[in-house]
Order: sequence, then C-alpha cells, then structure tokens
Amino acid sequence: MDFKLTDGQQRLREEVRGFCLEHRTPEVYEETFWNHGWGPASREFFKKAGARGWLTPTWPKQYGGLESTHVDQLIIADEMSYHGLRAGMVGAGMAGPTILRFGNEEQKQEYLPRIARGEIEFALGYTEPQAGSDLAALDIRAVEDGDEYVINGMKTFNTHCHFSDYHWLGARTDPEAPKHRGVSLFIVDLKSPGITIRPLWTLAGWRTNEVYYDNVRVPKNNLVGARGRGFQQIAVALDFERMYPIGPLTRLLDELIAYAKQATSRGKALVGDPIVRHQLAEVAADLEVCRLFVFRLAWMLDQGQALGHESAMAKVFQTEVEHKLTHTAMKIMGPFGQLARGSKWAPLHGEVEYHHRWQVVETIYGGTSEIMRNIIAQRGLGLPKGA
Ligand SMILES: Cc1cc2nc3c(=O)[nH]c(=O)nc-3n(C[C@H](O)[C@H](O)[C@H](O)COP(=O)(O)OP(=O)(O)OC[C@H]3O[C@@H](n4cnc5c(N)ncnc54)[C@H](O)[C@@H]3O)c2cc1C
Repeated sequence: MDFKLTDGQQRLREEVRGFCLEHRTPEVYEETFWNHGWGPASREFFKKAGARGWLTPTWPKQYGGLESTHVDQLIIADEMSYHGLRAGMVGAGMAGPTILRFGNEEQKQEYLPRIARGEIEFALGYTEPQAGSDLAALDIRAVEDGDEYVINGMKTFNTHCHFSDYHWLGARTDPEAPKHRGVSLFIVDLKSPGITIRPLWTLAGWRTNEVYYDNVRVPKNNLVGARGRGFQQIAVALDFERMYPIGPLTRLLDELIAYAKQATSRGKALVGDPIVRHQLAEVAADLEVCRLFVFRLAWMLDQGQALGHESAMAKVFQTEVEHKLTHTAMKIMGPFGQLARGSKWAPLHGEVEYHHRWQVVETIYGGTSEIMRNIIAQRGLGLPKGA
C-alpha cells in the first residue's frame, strides 16, 4: 500500500497547476466558479485542456484519450477544481464513459472525440418532479414512430441545459414493463424543435432548469445501449458522478489558513487562538479522509473494480465535510464571513459566503445524503431494504 504520488504523478499535478495559472483568466473564473457553467471563455479553456487529453485521460487513444489511469484523471480534475474549474464535465465524466461502455460504434465516433476535444458538453436529464430519489418513477415518454422516437414530458433541476449541446435523457419507452426496466437513455440535441428550457435559481445563486419536451423527434440511433436498460446504465454513470475531486475544499482551507494568519481579533492574531487552531486542525483531518476516500475510488477503477457503496460513502462524507468547512470558515470570520461578493469588507472576495450557500445543494444533487446512507446500509452492510 503506497499513499504517495509517484514522481510522474507529482509532475502531472504541477503541469496542470501551471496550465491553470496561465490560462484561467478572470472571464473563465466568472463563468465556471461564480456562474457554475460554461461560456465563451471557458469553452476556449476546456478546448486547450482537451488538446492535451486532460478532459478524458483514461479513454482509448482512438477516441481522444491518453489511455492513462483514473488516478491521473483525478489528479487533473483535482488540480483544475482547486482553481475553480469544476463546472460541467457531464460529457467527459458521465455521458462519455457510459457511451464508451454501452454505446454503439457510430455513437462512439460521433460523440467521444468531440467530448475529448472539449467541443461539446452534455446536461444530465434524469430528475422529474415525482422522480428524484426514486428515479425509476420517471415518466417522460419516448414513443417509437418510424425511424424516430417522439418525446413528450418534462424534467426539472436539469443543470447545464442552458449552455450545453446535448441532453443525456432518461425516458420511459416501455410503460407496461416493471418501472426499473422500462427506461431508456437517449442523446438529444438541445436545439431540437419542441424543447423549452426555463431557469430555476438555486440557493447558491446559479442556474438550473426545467426542460419541457413537446413532440420532440429524436433519431432511433440516439438511443444508447439496450432499450429498457437505461435505469441500470444510469446507476453505473451515477457512481462516476459521485467521485468528486476535493480541490475546492483544499483551496478553501488553504485560503482560510492564510486568512487566519493575517487576521486579528482584539489585537491578537487569530491563529494564536486555541479554538481557531483546533477548528482548522479538525477540518484538515476530515479533508485528509476525503482525499483518501476519493483516491481509493480512482484506484478501484484502475484495478477494474466497480464502484458500489464506496462512492456513496465518499459522497456523503465529502459533502458533509464541505458543510463543516464552510461553517468553520463562517465562525472564524465572524459576521464578516456573511458578507457577499461585492462588499468591500467581504473576506476572500465573498467566496466563503458563496461556498456556504453552495454546499447545501451538494448534499442533494447526485443523490441526497439519506439515499447515500441507504446505499451504504444495503450494498455495503448487506442490510435489508428499509421501510
Ligand atoms: C442544485 C441542483 C442541481 C441538480 N442538477 C441535476 C441535474 O443536472 N440533472 C438531474 O437529473 N437532476 C439534478 N438534480 C436533482 C437531484 O438529483 C435531486 O434533487 C435529488 O436526487 C433528490 O430528489 P428530489 O429533489 O426529488 O427529492 P426527493 O426524492 O423528493 O427527496 C425529498 C427528501 O426525502 C428524502 N428521501 C427520499 N427518499 C428517501 C428514502 N428512500 N429514504 C430516506 N430518505 C428519503 C431525501 O433524502 C430528501 O431529503 C439537481 C438538484 C439540485 C438541488
């Protein structure tokens, strides 16, 4: 067991860091960090990263990858997210790996190289008002009509739809089948006639969406994998979604430590206060556990193992540590921590206040903390399904 990065991995981290420092302009930061999305500047940034193979390092070279390891992939994502570049990546992180595993050759040729080059992005289209935690209850209908499917219904909380190119859509193709077997996965061009996208604003202040389908026609070849097996394919993709890099947390802790070193309270340095020191030490220890969790997930993938309850453990622990970290930051900064971006007195340009609101939604999307604990109880501990 070796927990240390190799020299090559350390060099990769430094290379990515240098790249981010050079190419992450204020415009890119605005789009990806503050707006949690992609815009013209970040599209250019991700194309440059894609040209190095850094968006999809584990993929086969024929589809634009580097045939590298998942640990390398995590190092790249971790370093980028440290610099506020954590938006999107549904194509590279979730849709792409699912196409690679379940898609046909035509789909692989059509989408994978463009994802790898950073030219296109996908938005996740799973949740509906009655189907969130219970995803198999989704009801949007896809009905076969000649060479096409005709899709009608609505989705909610579909983040990224307003700037993405494709919808990664779960739709019901077989209403008579048991609910876990009647769902199929589709790739839908978000510019298709009949799609309406409306904004929903999150507590964090960035946008997610409601998406309405009104007789949207989708070619049959856009169905990914076997018809009726979409739910199982979504479950595989969700395990990938739950492997979050810890860069944003590491950076917040680094900034908090730097703040505590220079700030004073009643004429005394904050870092001299035993309570502040213990609070910082406690979240630093928690963060180290997060790091081990997420690197273990990457290592498991490199060993060819499937991610099961381990990704649920990592997700619930990390998002709850994020809550603790932002809460700690708020306590250390006192009332100043509540000041938002734009106030001249806001410490760290208001990032703590923003992060404090953001972390709440992280315990919900990708599966809530309660659902993560259910997965750990059932799949990890072998307990029977709860009432
Ligand atoms: C900001 C944001 C962005 C999102 N982005 C996307 C996206 O891009 N694409 C997408 O498809 N979805 C997205 N989602 C949806 C997200 O995945 C769902 O909100 C989440 O799965 C919870 O579903 P729900 O909101 O319907 O809540 P519900 O499932 O109705 O849950 C309500 C509460 O009941 C609890 N609960 C439910 N079932 C159980 C159970 N069996 N045992 C114990 N407790 C339970 C939940 O933990 C929760 O506290 C996003 C959500 C948010 C908030």
